[in-house]
This record gives sequence, structure tokens and C-alpha cells, in this order.
Amino acid sequence: MDLFVSDLHLSARRPETADLFIGFLAGTARQAATLYILGDLFDYWLGDDGLDEPFAARVCKALAGLADSGTQIWFLPGNRDFLVGNNFAATCGLHFLAEPSVRDVAGEPTLLLHGDTLCTDDRGYQTFRATVRMPTWREQFLAQPLATRREYVEGLRKRSEAEKRVKPYELMDTNAEAVAEAFRRYNVTSMIHGHTHRQARHDLEIDGHHCRRWVLGDWEVTGNALACDADGCRWLQIGP
Ligand code: MN
Repeated sequence: MDLFVSDLHLSARRPETADLFIGFLAGTARQAATLYILGDLFDYWLGDDGLDEPFAARVCKALAGLADSGTQIWFLPGNRDFLVGNNFAATCGLHFLAEPSVRDVAGEPTLLLHGDTLCTDDRGYQTFRATVRMPTWREQFLAQPLATRREYVEGLRKRSEAEKRVKPYELMDTNAEAVAEAFRRYNVTSMIHGHTHRQARHDLEIDGHHCRRWVLGDWEVTGNALACDADGCRWLQIGP
């Protein structure tokens, strides 16, 4: 069985979600051959020196425990935690997954991605994304003291929360043409992503092919995972 999760947005501010995830890593996830984390594991990641903080260290230890038990963990960073580095991956026992990647899931070639690249209607966000994904931006940002980085990201987070309240619902969803284009370009009939927090299974017809798009939900009081094996994929609810 393969398991897929995303958008846990773990933060010391919400210890109950971290407890739920750590319980999942010690329980349900142990039955999986592979756990895929498709981005936004953390509400934000300021750099791998964040591993020194007890909250992150605890999450990391739980991930490493799962990896030690024999479940492979593949991580594809999201828009909140794209600054994770090799030290993080090595310490927490996970492998980086290139974005996007095509993997065989339940016998079907499946495109795996965080999902923000499909939200092409939000031009402002796409411009921001292009900037912060540049190696020079990353290098300069990581060279700043932790306190400076935290202040900057807290500012971004507050601005993004304020914008979310006024941006139209449609603008923050995936663009239908971008979705169709991704199915065509990667020659797949299945896709799994997160980011929008709009958990759903979408069945669609593209160039005469039946295609399926699974959107993972976010974690709060309860969590969700997609479990896939030879019989197909199904939702698991994690927690209460
Ligand atoms: Mn996201």
C-alpha cells in the first residue's frame, strides 16, 4: 500500500495536529510500503537550522522512526516548506521527490505534485513563486539570521491570510486548462495533489481518456490520507 498526505501545516501553534500526525506515523503509516508527503508538511520552514527547535525535532524523529521501520518516505516540498534542505531530508529519513514526478500508483501512471503550479489564475502568486524559487533568492534568504527570516515569513503569512479573505474562491482553485495540460504533457490518466485544501476526487474526460484527479485535504483536528494498492485508491480519515 502507498499512502499520500499533504498540507499538514504543522506548527508549534497547533500541537494537536502534530500529535495526530505523529500518531499516524507510529500507526497506520507503518503498514505502507511508501508514504508520499506532497508538500506543506510545515506551516513554514525557515531553513534547516530550524531542526534545532524542539517542535521540528520531534516531528523529524517521528518521521525517522517510520523510515527505520521500513516505510520509504518521499517528500515533495510545497509553497510553505520549499526551503527544506538536504540536512532536513537526511536527519528525518526521507527522500526528495522531484516536482512533478510520475509514479506507478495502483497500476496507473500518476502525476504527483503539490498543486500550486495548477493555480494559474492567481498571477500574483505565480510571480511570487517564480521569484522565491530562484537559487539566488534562496541563497540570499538563507544567509540571513533566523530572526530576520522569521519576521519576513510571519509578515508573508499574515498578508496571505488577509488576501485569502478577499481573493475570489475561484481564483485560488486550480485552473481547468492547466489541469488538462498537465494530464497531456505527462501522458497520465491519474493525478494526486494538495495545496487547495479542497479534498475531492474529480473524474474527467481528456482527449477521450477517462482521467482522475485526487485532491488531498489539509489536516486540522482530523487528518486525511489517500491509500492506494492493487485494488485502487480510497480515502482514510485519520483521528477523531
Ligand atoms: Mn500549499
